[in-house]
Amino acid sequence: MERESMEFDVVIVGGGPSGLSAAIRLRQLALASERELTVCVIEKGSELGAHILSGAVIETGALDELIPDWKAKGAPLNTPAGDDRFLFLTKDKAVRLMTPPQMNNHGNYIVSLGNVVRWLGAQAEELGVEIFPGFAAAEVLYDESGAVRGVATGDMGIGKDGEPTGNYTPGVELLARQTIFAEGCRGSLTKTLFERFDLCKDCDVQTYGIGIKELWEVDPAQHKLGQIVHTVGWPLDTKTYGGSFLYHLENNQVAVGFVVGLDYANPHLSPFEEFQRFKTHPAIRPIFEGGRRISYGARALSEGGIQSVPKLTFPGGMLVGDTAGFLNVPKIKGTHTAMKTGMMAAEAVFEVLTVEEGGPFEVDSYSAKVKDSWVWSELYQSRNVRPSFHKGLWAGIAYSAIDTYILRGRAPWTFHHHPDHTALGKAADYPKIDYPKPDGKVSFDRLSSVFISNTNHEENQPIHLKLKDEGVPLTVNLALYDAPEQRYCPAGVYEIVTDDAGQSPRLQINAQNCLHCKTCDIKDPTQNINWVVPEGSGGPNYPNM
Ligand SMILES: Cc1cc2nc3c(=O)[nH]c(=O)nc-3n(C[C@H](O)[C@H](O)[C@H](O)COP(=O)(O)OP(=O)(O)OC[C@H]3O[C@@H](n4cnc5c(N)ncnc54)[C@H](O)[C@@H]3O)c2cc1C
Ligand code: SF4
Repeated sequence: MERESMEFDVVIVGGGPSGLSAAIRLRQLALASERELTVCVIEKGSELGAHILSGAVIETGALDELIPDWKAKGAPLNTPAGDDRFLFLTKDKAVRLMTPPQMNNHGNYIVSLGNVVRWLGAQAEELGVEIFPGFAAAEVLYDESGAVRGVATGDMGIGKDGEPTGNYTPGVELLARQTIFAEGCRGSLTKTLFERFDLCKDCDVQTYGIGIKELWEVDPAQHKLGQIVHTVGWPLDTKTYGGSFLYHLENNQVAVGFVVGLDYANPHLSPFEEFQRFKTHPAIRPIFEGGRRISYGARALSEGGIQSVPKLTFPGGMLVGDTAGFLNVPKIKGTHTAMKTGMMAAEAVFEVLTVEEGGPFEVDSYSAKVKDSWVWSELYQSRNVRPSFHKGLWAGIAYSAIDTYILRGRAPWTFHHHPDHTALGKAADYPKIDYPKPDGKVSFDRLSSVFISNTNHEENQPIHLKLKDEGVPLTVNLALYDAPEQRYCPAGVYEIVTDDAGQSPRLQINAQNCLHCKTCDIKDPTQNINWVVPEGSGGPNYPNM
């Protein structure tokens, strides 16, 4: 069967804050100047918001610019940020530290980013954007000159064996004069564009964190509407970057999450178990005791900052939001920068497409707009904070204080990053970590957690976690690193199983549990795992993460 094709002026891959902001801005400009401009957004989640996982406390600067009357239009920003607390935890104590200025949230809102994205989607549709949820962009299409010509969605109905089943439907080609990639952190197509157009040749490698989050409904006596708490310290050692967030939002809900920098060294570490253990701290446990866990999920974050931002444009396309690494790490915020880069991309594309005929084009004025914007100056100022933690927690806190209060981000030097996968040490060189068993009250196991992420994949499809070399999981990962994928995957996708006699180990991949966090694609020590999109609409179905 032949693939059908559809033609648009602009195709946007990913219906997150950056992709939808680009779509809205394009249609606003088209309507204001009474020009024809067709815009389509494709989203791999079963609906908009289904794959969105964030904290989230958001800054409204970009939203104010995009939709100034967002309040009147019913945007789900209902909880103004209140009291900000920054705690250092030891095993049994919590010491309040001065809140770093980047973490001052006065004027911000605590939201479910999934719900904000659903609302942005409704605004986009009202303006005439065509949104196709449940379709994963599986392949970048190129024209004869090598320029990006659009994307193709994956075929549906391919069996585990790679052969078409009775439900086979070929993918669709979505062709465009400009394709905007808004896939979020570690985009699977963006990765291929990095290679094809050598986009990272002048920047640092990207460095990442994994964020694991739960949404709870807590005892009203424990709920403090608008309160924002961040912690560092226990249960992580001082060499491992990370910490927690607790945001008290509406309906007695608390969003609690734990972020671990993926440059950690001890292969025995499990970010999932660190998170579960964190909730048992004497200062934290009472918040959740007697409460109900509503949802669970995980997602990687780009932590490299401005040093790791690649070249943003190439013939036929461009990168916006987290897929290009526009997250401000000291703030743990990327929504405002994702939205603003989406808007700037739209403005640059609009200027070109309405003057020139045909396409595809390389719209390099977008890069110039970004460099002239508050996004660039904000990320420039904070660029040395994350890498200063390479020397440990206390050195990082001390340097960050000097950088923020005295140098004000204007230091004449820029620290660099190293790849996360090479930071992993050998199992024999690091102590095993004895994690406590989950108590089923405030701490849980992986499988019951994945259950409440509503994750679902068609079972009869090829595994979307591709091993470049089938032998490496045993000869390298198990032999040298004690199979770290069993611990860094927050969904229990990777399991070393043996026969009844405990012999003949092999790696079993439970791909149907995958939360699309992308950690395995980042942290596998020899980069042997390649995450590609499964059939469209597969993955988590987060209600309001
Ligand atoms: C744990 C955690 C806490 C955070 N806390 C905050 C916070 O408090 N405040 C804040 O401002 N930011 C926070 N962030 C960062 C914020 O969530 C991101 O910066 C923001 O979501 C980036 O928007 P985006 O549109 O670039 O990407 P995303 O929000 O990741 O959206 C990308 C979308 O593209 C879709 N997609 C990806 N690939 C494809 C494909 N090939 N085909 C079709 N669809 C595809 C995905 O399903 C997804 O819906 C946090 C992030 C995490 C992980
Ligand atoms: S398989 Fe990879 S992408 Fe999926 S949940 Fe596990 S670590 Fe994340």
